[in-house]
Amino acid sequence: MNSLSAETVKRFARERGADLVGVASIDRFNGAPPHLHPAKSMLPTAKSVIVIAKRIPRGCLRGNIEGTNFTTFAYYGYIFLQHKYYMSKLDYEVACFIERHGWEAVPSQGIGAHFKVAAVLAGLGQIGWNQLLLTPQFGPLERLGIIVTEVDLEPDPIFEGRLCEPEDCGYRCVIECPNKAIPKTRKITLNIAGKTVEFSDMDLGKCMTDCIRLTMHSPFMKKVSGGRAISPTAIDEVVDFYRMMYRHVGKLPYAIRGSMGCMEACIEYLEERGKIQRFKLPLRRRPKWEF
Ligand code: SF4
Ligand code: SF4
Repeated sequence: MNSLSAETVKRFARERGADLVGVASIDRFNGAPPHLHPAKSMLPTAKSVIVIAKRIPRGCLRGNIEGTNFTTFAYYGYIFLQHKYYMSKLDYEVACFIERHGWEAVPSQGIGAHFKVAAVLAGLGQIGWNQLLLTPQFGPLERLGIIVTEVDLEPDPIFEGRLCEPEDCGYRCVIECPNKAIPKTRKITLNIAGKTVEFSDMDLGKCMTDCIRLTMHSPFMKKVSGGRAISPTAIDEVVDFYRMMYRHVGKLPYAIRGSMGCMEACIEYLEERGKIQRFKLPLRRRPKWEF
């Protein structure tokens, strides 16, 4: 019998700041390609995969939506939260906690396992048409961490709810993606733990950094016929952003996304339908910036 229960591990993770914690048994990964199977890519004796999540405050999108700053989401919603601090620290602490009980544990930031698939297998939520994990607590606003361990923990049930309903939603992510990166009909179909899961076959080459409203929605942009132009003010803003990130992160970031289609449009739908928490005020409070 294990001296460590799933509940004990979850309590520890929550005490350390995780907002969501789920457990998948390793057999749920059957059928995954070797480089994304935790027992083949990380820990051959793996029995359980713990997935932890931390929320991205909705306010991190405010600067992008209002056109007031382009840095908060990139920093607190992405680089700082995912890579530089919280998630890697949480993975590490949970792994150490398990190892103090005598079982080996491997923290992972998505190497050797697919973040979103692992989260679905651990019962945290559903993959939306926009290819983002959607949870009933935060919709698409969370970052993830993975701990693979040889301790046999009780798995959580797979999430059976339907957060993403493209027909009901009207494919808002498809319509609102400024770079047309999310197709409406082209899809990827996976079998995840015996369930058929479908989401868009996103064109990652089109999902570019200029989603952050350096396109037509930026208040700093001047519209030119038939194309895009970057005004001197926008260039200053971007240069400032890179300088700030370099100061704080020590290297240049690779993404400054606004995620207006895949995140904002999706949050708006989920909140409207009461599928996730409704805030006192709606996410988008006035027409989009357009010049
Ligand atoms: S980040 Fe922007 S460009 Fe990429 S899919 Fe989302 S809305 Fe489209
Ligand atoms: S915007 Fe609509 S279709 Fe797209 S992922 Fe969200 S709920 Fe699904």
